[in-house]
Amino acid sequence: MTDSLSKAKRSWNMSRIRSKDTKPELLVRSLLHCDGYRFRIHKSGLPGKPDIVLAKHKTVVFVHGCFWHRHNGCSDATTPKTRTVFWKNKFEENMARDKRTVAALIALNWNVVIVWECELKNPNELLERLRREISKPAV
Ligand SMILES: [Zn+2]
Repeated sequence: MTDSLSKAKRSWNMSRIRSKDTKPELLVRSLLHCDGYRFRIHKSGLPGKPDIVLAKHKTVVFVHGCFWHRHNGCSDATTPKTRTVFWKNKFEENMARDKRTVAALIALNWNVVIVWECELKNPNELLERLRREISKPAV
């Protein structure tokens, strides 16, 4: 792959990741919606602006890209071969932010569910997990 091609691919990935209604998130929403869950999206006023807020279940759902949020052990969580220090710092920042967000939400008594983008390859399994996690009583 030429450098310009990989650059183009990278900026495409980034624009996709930055946009609010990324496809994975839409998929998770429609899974939940079809299953009868009702929720709000991008509710401000909560730490980290969770992607999906199921107020009735006191549960928030984040849909995380495996690359940006470093899905542990996932083949999609690759590290670019160039500018490794930049990426390492970037990833560390992201992970630290995620950690703080989850801790803040738990402190507010929210049940936090993280959906990884790669889980969307198996929507049935994902939905089963979501059902289990959403019905879990808040700690
Ligand atoms: Zn993953």
